[in-house]
Amino acid sequence: MTTLASPPAATHARPKNTPPSNFSSSVFEECGLPSDPNNLYRQTVGSMLYAAQVMDLPHEFQLILAQPKNEIMVHFPVRMDNGKYQLFKGYRVQHNNALGPFKGGLRFHPDVHLDDVKSLSFLMTMKCSLAGLPYGGGKGGIKVDPRKHSVSEMERIVRRFTAAIAHNIGPDYDIPAPDVGSTAQHMAWIADTYAFISETSGKNPNAVITGKPVESGGSLGREKATGQGVIDTLEIMLPELGLDISRVTFSVLGFGNVGSWAGRILAAKGGSMRAVADHTGFLRSDKSIDAIALADHVSKTGGIRGFAGAEPCSKEDFYKAKVDVFIPAALEQMVQESEARMLNCTVVAEGANAPTTPPGERVLLERGIEVLPAILANAGGVTVSYFEWIQNITFHSWDLKRVDQELNKHMVDAANRTRAARQQYDCDLRTAAYIAALQRLQKTYEFRGIFP
Ligand code: GLU
Repeated sequence: MTTLASPPAATHARPKNTPPSNFSSSVFEECGLPSDPNNLYRQTVGSMLYAAQVMDLPHEFQLILAQPKNEIMVHFPVRMDNGKYQLFKGYRVQHNNALGPFKGGLRFHPDVHLDDVKSLSFLMTMKCSLAGLPYGGGKGGIKVDPRKHSVSEMERIVRRFTAAIAHNIGPDYDIPAPDVGSTAQHMAWIADTYAFISETSGKNPNAVITGKPVESGGSLGREKATGQGVIDTLEIMLPELGLDISRVTFSVLGFGNVGSWAGRILAAKGGSMRAVADHTGFLRSDKSIDAIALADHVSKTGGIRGFAGAEPCSKEDFYKAKVDVFIPAALEQMVQESEARMLNCTVVAEGANAPTTPPGERVLLERGIEVLPAILANAGGVTVSYFEWIQNITFHSWDLKRVDQELNKHMVDAANRTRAARQQYDCDLRTAAYIAALQRLQKTYEFRGIFP
């Protein structure tokens, strides 16, 4: 069935300051950033530089934040099950550590490359600052398709990668975590390999990585944390859009960890999932799609295709589905201008990192669709990673109630600081979230100075 997209009514006044299509900054050239306007790194850093101009951030801080501190690339051989060796490429980019140790996930994906990892590490600096965490930003990954390797091959790949970067990470220096394609099991192997190789006398070597299984030093609530944070953010922001969380309809793009948890948690609050998509297909329904049954189907079959509780549909029908909330929870740059024109929702809650391109966002804002930016909406994962790290370094464990309550405090505070910046600068929410993140970084740099 097709529900034709009609532009939703604007629910709030259009902000005065939103990034223009011809935005330019001398920092692009000064830092030698790629000139291609579709380049992910240029797009993500560009959004921050626009916010920096709106708030008048001193030029030197813009320069510092426009490039990562360290970019580590490694190549390492791994013996495959057939006895032959294959060479793998891995990355760890350490963007900034002014607020604390570098922090961010490890992506295991065949298409991962340096530019993605740089962009994602930059976003971690902004996210940790906005969420009020004592961390900077980092990101890493391995160019690998985990679906194409046996468990024992993945174990050797992950352990060899850990050995290759072991001297560049540490519980008080750089703390990786899961991201797309990496799991709690992978984190357990990394913790074990790191403990074997490194000297962490008196400290808990488990604190080198977060997102571990609960049985291996992980935290209760970490697995669902990113999805939980998306729903916490919606709960805080929906009333000003005239929406009641217990009655919203929603669609989800990507039904992996973030999308499936967001779907399940929102459904438990009364929301009704009407459309869902992943790498295996698109589904629609006029009734609620059962998020728990779908998550079960995905864990058995690897994707949403073949799920009996909804009808298969086209990509267009998925995007045009009339819903209150659209949750992109897959990869970067998936909501471009054409998708933004098709969407028929009131608010986009970014579960993935950088799912909306700047041209896509301009279309959304013109159509009066609110965007809850990823550095706010998906900060739940790294926030509960922080709680896991605290539990590791203090040899304590928290119950789930405490984890959820503390997470909610961070999400409320981040949302309030974003709203305050929006009010002060009359800007869109992404610009406001960057301004709130930059304000904290600016103060830190002003106090500590740049030495020598
Ligand atoms: N990969 C997640 C993110 O992009 C979590 C990072 C972490 O827990 O350190 O926010």
